[in-house]
Amino acid sequence: MNSSTLNSNAEQTIDSEEARDLRNTLLYAGIITIGLSVMILATSPLVISLQIPPMETTLLALCSAIVSVLGIYGLQRGWPIKAISWTSLTAYAIIITMTIHYTGGPLTPMPALYLLVVVAASFLLGRQGATIIAFVSVVSYALMLLLEYLGVIKMVLIWDITFEPQTRGALLIINWLAVAIPTLITSQLAGVLAERLKETNAELIESERMQNSLTHMIIHDLRNPITAVTGSLDLLLMTLGDKMNGDQRNLLKNAQHSGKMLLGLVGELLDINKMEAGKFELHLEPVNICKLVAQNTEAMRAAAELEGQNLEITACSTETVINCDPQLISRVISNLLTNAFKYTPEGGAITSKVEREGEEVVISVIDTGPGIPPKYRDHIFEKFGQVKQDGPRQGTGLGLTLCKMAARAHGGDIWVESEVGKGSTFAFSLPIVGPSDAKVEF
Ligand code: ADP
Repeated sequence: MNSSTLNSNAEQTIDSEEARDLRNTLLYAGIITIGLSVMILATSPLVISLQIPPMETTLLALCSAIVSVLGIYGLQRGWPIKAISWTSLTAYAIIITMTIHYTGGPLTPMPALYLLVVVAASFLLGRQGATIIAFVSVVSYALMLLLEYLGVIKMVLIWDITFEPQTRGALLIINWLAVAIPTLITSQLAGVLAERLKETNAELIESERMQNSLTHMIIHDLRNPITAVTGSLDLLLMTLGDKMNGDQRNLLKNAQHSGKMLLGLVGELLDINKMEAGKFELHLEPVNICKLVAQNTEAMRAAAELEGQNLEITACSTETVINCDPQLISRVISNLLTNAFKYTPEGGAITSKVEREGEEVVISVIDTGPGIPPKYRDHIFEKFGQVKQDGPRQGTGLGLTLCKMAARAHGGDIWVESEVGKGSTFAFSLPIVGPSDAKVEF
């Protein structure tokens, strides 16, 4: 038997959320860079007329596109995000310096691109990372100016300006300071901002976690007294029920029914809360899913006959064994069947079905009840989500939430197809192989 805890480590949850955020930011940054590179490529004919070497600028645009594509490929393949961020941002800083050289050097507003790289670095690598990337940028820029000044590399001039060597030197230093100071200041400001955002995020996660554990404690403490009350009522009815008059017995039966409903509600809340907090354990084992559906449906047959409802089981075409938590999946099937009974009027038909579709099985419960209007079809899977109707509420609005979480925890999904006035089909899918520790999440 295999047992896996869902999101058991809170630290891991924060890490994975952070990793997801970083991944998305980097993906967007990468896509934008590709866009910019393509733009530069497309405007090459224009730069030719400005006497900028089109070959070199085109090559640099290609380099930047390759860095982006490699970064995105690495993200998809699960390469370490920090390593991708360091490599691509350092590469971007150097490519920008070379682009500045080939597109007019200090005479253009190109150095402003360093600010973009530094801001991206602060969010992806933190304040320290942003400082290092800012240094890489300004040092490579200084080196470029120096080599141009010494004549080692030829300065590309887009305007016909010539200065005396001394004036040129002074101007280059001023230009370097005008680029270096804002770049370094931006790295610090953006770094502080990124750190604050991270702290706020961590505080929010922590307060949500505390709220969840408090709710869990309250709900857990409610269960014991309610169990005691319903147990005592059961005993009272069993031992003294015969000696009571009809009204007294009805009163006690009502109290017993309400107590059981309350117990069910507390149990569901407790489970949903556990799943949300990542403390719910899946006990996975090979299960004959057709048998499980048939058992649950059979268990409902007596109740169905009492209500005058026709209950059918469409036999499985093949015996399918899947890897799942039989108790949890039993609850899902039973919840869907109970709902079908609850909402289908007398004389209606309810069918349960198991079908194999590729690498998964789909379990459906079909009824001839009132159906669900389109605007409620997503809402009913949310906590306390119910179809608005006249009269007293029939349930808690938690059953389908639990079903959705259970299906998703197994790597499957749940959905409803419905026609108002004709009936509904609630179906959920489960992968045949079942979840692995890594895949389990809500
Ligand atoms: P509960 O039934 O306890 O209210 P659920 O989460 O199981 O909670 O269901 C949410 C809502 O979805 C129900 O209140 C009902 O409005 C609607 N619903 C669920 N199953 C059916 C069904 N088979 N036919 C019609 N409506 C349904």
